[in-house]
Amino acid sequence: MKPDVLVIGAGVVGLTTALRLAEQGLRVRIRADTVQRDTTSAAAGAIWGAELAEHPDVRRWTATGFAIQSRLAEDPATGVRVTPGVEASRTPVAVPDWATATVGAAELPPGFVTGWRYEAPVTDMPVHLAWLAGQFAGEVIPGRVERLADAFAEAPIVVNCTGLGARELGPDPSMRACRGQLVAVRNPGLDTFFLEYTDFVEEMTYLIPQGPVLLLGGCAFFDDERLDPDPAVAARIVERCAAVHPAVADAEVIEHRVGLRPMRPTVRLEHEDLGDGRHLIHNYGHGGAGVSTSWGCAGDVAEIVSGLLSGPARP
Ligand SMILES: Cc1cc2nc3c(=O)[nH]c(=O)nc-3n(C[C@H](O)[C@H](O)[C@H](O)COP(=O)(O)OP(=O)(O)OC[C@H]3O[C@@H](n4cnc5c(N)ncnc54)[C@H](O)[C@@H]3O)c2cc1C
Repeated sequence: MKPDVLVIGAGVVGLTTALRLAEQGLRVRIRADTVQRDTTSAAAGAIWGAELAEHPDVRRWTATGFAIQSRLAEDPATGVRVTPGVEASRTPVAVPDWATATVGAAELPPGFVTGWRYEAPVTDMPVHLAWLAGQFAGEVIPGRVERLADAFAEAPIVVNCTGLGARELGPDPSMRACRGQLVAVRNPGLDTFFLEYTDFVEEMTYLIPQGPVLLLGGCAFFDDERLDPDPAVAARIVERCAAVHPAVADAEVIEHRVGLRPMRPTVRLEHEDLGDGRHLIHNYGHGGAGVSTSWGCAGDVAEIVSGLLSGPARP
């Protein structure tokens, strides 16, 4: 039977969107040219936050993400853990209102002057993507969509969750890649995160524990689309992180991760009525915050679809 909705993309945005739609009793199909480990989503750190993502609703979406991910953390199978940690700046800045405590300069690593504590959901993305895929009861069909117009042969409602792929599929020339690179090491015993708070810089410092693995970061290079790890970038990441936690210097490297953040001047969450009962909903361009905003955006897409199906123009 023909699905009600086709979701294109099986990264964190496509999977959460498909799950929200399926919860409404809709028949949902996912089509994606790469799944799980090969998506940008699999490369993410991923700690809750609103980095490198622009839209007036980002705060609302991340608030939804915080609540849902905190609930998911009760089940270890989801790959989400609520983790305490410190965020700190190398220059004096105002402590944000969501901090639970400040950290005195004497307690901070060398070079940092302002710091604060909070707890945030941290997501082990390969585990989480597998868990999300396992929750989805509909079809997942491998394959590339060459033209959005072709997708309506499969369903009257199409949701475009193609991340950076939207650049060609749209086509959307406002999309840009922002290359991120992480070093995964054997965790020398950290159970709290450390994040450097910065205005935009290309190389920054963060340490995110994920049980036996510790993820070290990071970087943000616009328009650099190399998918191979850069050894010089990796060496600088380890050096900066070792300045925060010296045990990191000798930690065994397990793997290098590279991903291209799908950047856009603003996240695109938008409905287009194409006529003849065809509806296209865009949900892409989540930049450096796609994990944190995914549930909020998925909820908005589900609301748009529910409005379409209950309105007088139901196809
Ligand atoms: C190093 C790094 C660290 C990050 N850290 C964080 C973090 O701490 N917190 C956070 O919230 N976010 C973080 N992010 C950002 C986050 O990873 C992204 O915003 C998010 O993964 C985007 O998800 P997506 O589903 O839109 O894209 P993707 O994961 O890229 O998925 C896109 C999907 O669309 C499919 N697709 C594309 N084009 C087509 C087509 N034409 N036909 C069929 N299928 C198509 C792809 O195959 C794929 O399945 C980080 C990213 C990187 C790289």
